[in-house]
Amino acid sequence: MKISTKTNLFGVLGDPIAQSLSPDLHNGLFETYHINGLYLPIEISSENLGDLVTGIRLMDFKGFNITKPHKLEILPYLDEIDLTAKKIGAVNTVVCNCGKLKGYNTDGFGFIKSIEPKLREKKRSDLKVLILGCGGAVKAVAISLAEWGVKEIVIANRTLEKAEILVEQINRIWPGKSKAIPIEPDFLEKNIHEADVLVNGTSIGMANAPHQTPINKELLHKNLLVYDMIYNPEKTQLLCDALEKGASVENGLEMLLYQGLLAFELWTGVFPNPEIGRAYLKKGLKKDE
Ligand code: NAP
Repeated sequence: MKISTKTNLFGVLGDPIAQSLSPDLHNGLFETYHINGLYLPIEISSENLGDLVTGIRLMDFKGFNITKPHKLEILPYLDEIDLTAKKIGAVNTVVCNCGKLKGYNTDGFGFIKSIEPKLREKKRSDLKVLILGCGGAVKAVAISLAEWGVKEIVIANRTLEKAEILVEQINRIWPGKSKAIPIEPDFLEKNIHEADVLVNGTSIGMANAPHQTPINKELLHKNLLVYDMIYNPEKTQLLCDALEKGASVENGLEMLLYQGLLAFELWTGVFPNPEIGRAYLKKGLKKDE
C-alpha cells in the first residue's frame, strides 16, 4: 500500500510498547482488506499522554488502541465513552470521528469469545470462576463474565483492596455474584476446589520470568479449564502444570485476537476473518522469537 496524505492513521499507545503484536495484526489486516491504513506502535509516558492526544487530533488519526499503563489515564482526554467501557471503567480502543474521540473496551469481548468454545459443554449459569490478579485487564474480564451470566466470580489479588473494590462494583449490579480473597494458599485451596475455570490475570509467568507461576501446581485439578491471559510464552509454567494435572488449557492469544478484530470493525466497519487475523499474530510472535 502506498503511503500518502490519504493514508488513514492508527496506532497503539503504551509504555513499553515494543512487544505489542497489534501492529502485526492491524497492518496485516489493512493489506488483506485493501484498506489504505497504517498502524504505528507509539511509546508514550503518562506525563506526555495529553500532548500526544492533541497531536493525534491534529494529525487526524482515525483510531487508536491504548494499552498498559494508560487504559484508565486516557479517560479524561476523550469526548465520549461507550456504555460497556463505562461499566468496566477502562478504555482500550478509541474511534476518532470528525475530531470527536469515543472510547470503547474490547478486552471483555475478546476474553468471552476466546473462552466460549472451551465451555460449550457446561451450563453457563453453573460456572464458578477463580481469577488471579486484579489489574486493568481483569476488570474487563470479571465484568464481562458477570454480564455473560456465570454463577460466581472469586477474585484473588496480592493487593486485596483492589479486588474488594472490583467485587463491590460487580455486586452492585449483580448482587452476591463476586467475592474477594487474598492470593494465599489456604484461601486458594478452598476456592479452587469448587472452581470450573481458573484465570491467570497476573503478570506472573511472562517471557521475562517464564518459570514463575502464580499458584502451586498441587492445587490444580483435572476438572479445571486453566486460562492464562499471557500469550508469550505460548505455554506458561502454569499451563504446563495444568496439562500435567490433566486440566484443559488456553492461553491469551485468542483474547488478543478478538479484542483486535472488534477494534478493527469499530474503525473500518469490517469484522475480519479470525483465521486471517490469527495467522498475522502468529507471524508476529515468530518474528519476536
Ligand atoms: P496490571 O494492571 O499491571 O496488573 C498486574 C496484576 O498482576 C495485578 O493484579 C498485580 O497485583 C499482579 N501481580 C504482579 N506481580 C505480582 C506478584 N509478584 N505476585 C502477585 N501478584 C502480582 O496488568 P494488566 O494489564 O491487567 O495485565 C495482566 C496480565 O494480562 C499480563 O500478563 C498481560 O500480559 C495480560 N493481558 C493479556 C491480554 C490479552 O489480550 N491476552 C490483554 C491484557 C493483558 P497487585 O494489584 O497487587 O499489584
